[in-house]
Amino acid sequence: MSENLPLKDQLETKPCNECQAGVMRLHLITYFTWLGDDLITVPNFPGWICDLCGRREYDEKSVSQLTMLLDPNAGKPTPLKPVSKRRSPKPIARRPTAES
Ligand SMILES: [Zn+2]
Repeated sequence: MSENLPLKDQLETKPCNECQAGVMRLHLITYFTWLGDDLITVPNFPGWICDLCGRREYDEKSVSQLTMLLDPNAGKPTPLKPVSKRRSPKPIARRPTAES
């Protein structure tokens, strides 16, 4: 009826920023990210791939969702690490006085 209704096909493509001519389509790819020292791989992750130049972009929404899942502290204030308050005794540099 209305031409303004987006087709599903249009929803799942977007112009490529890289080559300007290609169309990026949603694929399920493997997402790689580092979590601390661990390499995390997420299969079947939504990502955009240009059908012309092959540029890959991970789906931003999914990335932020995943980041929240991976980071339990997301959105929370980072708890302060307990700092061991070691009082360094001030060296009393008292020069021997020749009083007595
Ligand atoms: Zn491209």
